[in-house]
Amino acid sequence: MRRDREPEERYSWTRPGAFEVAKGVFRIPLPMPANGLRAVSTYAIRSGEDLLMIDSGWAVPEAMTGLQDALELINAGPGDISEFAITHAHGDHYTLAVEVRERYGTPIAIGAGEEANILAVMADWDSGYHVQQRHLIEAGASDLAAEFDQWRTGHSHTSRFAKERYELPDRWLHNGEVIDVGHHEVRAMATPGHTSGHVVYIDHAEGIIFSGDHILPHITPSVGFEPVPPALPLRDFLASLESMLELPDLSVMPAHGPAGFSLHDRSLELLRYHETRLSDMLTVVLAGGRHPLDVARGIGWTRRNTHFDALDPFNRTLALNETVAHLRLLEDRGDLAAGVEAGSPVYALP
Ligand SMILES: [Zn+2]
Repeated sequence: MRRDREPEERYSWTRPGAFEVAKGVFRIPLPMPANGLRAVSTYAIRSGEDLLMIDSGWAVPEAMTGLQDALELINAGPGDISEFAITHAHGDHYTLAVEVRERYGTPIAIGAGEEANILAVMADWDSGYHVQQRHLIEAGASDLAAEFDQWRTGHSHTSRFAKERYELPDRWLHNGEVIDVGHHEVRAMATPGHTSGHVVYIDHAEGIIFSGDHILPHITPSVGFEPVPPALPLRDFLASLESMLELPDLSVMPAHGPAGFSLHDRSLELLRYHETRLSDMLTVVLAGGRHPLDVARGIGWTRRNTHFDALDPFNRTLALNETVAHLRLLEDRGDLAAGVEAGSPVYALP
């Protein structure tokens, strides 16, 4: 019985609708067909004449219909949206806003730190994948780079939807900037890590934080999966997690997964998770694993502790690049020394 019920409960947050999570604030999940995440929660804040949308969903017909249906439940339509405030430039957050803007002229705001990423995708749609592939080659995993490329060609249908939907926003938001929505005041806060320009939006009066992909209840967000990643995305992400602890313990409204959990508890959990990963990787290096691939093979992956070699090429790519992000941070902290052997990085005790 339990086995049948569990997955259903785990994904109950994806059910369509407009769910009031605070006065005048509605959670609107929109579908992500053929994607493991299943849905993205967007949020509508309605006060007086204003209707602010936090994140927009993926530019696919199912999401556009979902948005129309959900807004209808609160007696509104896409043409009533006064502005989109986007958490980051990933397709499932940004691209439907561009489509709505095309039809209704709705202005779009996003963190200033996303400019390089958006420009790169506009210049080359595949730039995000190319950089992942380059990282694989740099880490000494050319075979995986070739496999990843092949896998990607076979799965291009999952990303093709939003291909034409990268355009510049109407304005760039900076850290601390406030958006007034009728009686609500929403403050943008820069939280680099998941992407360089990721921002969260805080409604202090309601005690809620729209966390985008910075804080998720069930998954650990990837870091630096973007066309123009910084040198140490994990260091940025951990600093952004620590900055959450300086805020009041707000209730989290995430982009994926059930809403309404403690900001402090989950931030601490994610910080501890990464410290454990860092020390696990250090242990593998101490035991003689020198190459990033050795380290990725020496630790478990996913909630089931799957071996690296049992993952599909896409997840192996994410796993290896995550390993590299941790190794670079260990090097930055002085816990490991990096060298080069036959053109690939190797790690050892300092
Ligand atoms: Zn994302």
